[in-house]
Amino acid sequence: MRLLDERAEIASVADRWKKGYLRSDGSWGTLHKGSSQSVYEALAALPETASAADVARVIGNDSWIGEDCTECGAPAVVLVGDEPDIESVTAYLCASCVQKLVDLVKTR
Ligand SMILES: [Zn+2]
Repeated sequence: MRLLDERAEIASVADRWKKGYLRSDGSWGTLHKGSSQSVYEALAALPETASAADVARVIGNDSWIGEDCTECGAPAVVLVGDEPDIESVTAYLCASCVQKLVDLVKTR
């Protein structure tokens, strides 16, 4: 379990992209549109002050920064379970659902 940190997500997005798309044989995975290597290079070239919107512009969608609460869909503040991967068991919770969880546990 860990708190989500947008700055850390932005800072790590190029490395996470590379982990997802660079194959063990040194080739890059394919994208529906464009080159995954070009996207990696653009992500790696982003300045330290880049925003989540800057990352979304490079990738073409906003799925790599920020998560929605697994329970209600609001912006999540905490990751519970495995670090995200292909077969991970991961949940994201917003502050409101964390409070609901605490209240629920208190009823035991
Ligand atoms: Zn929620």
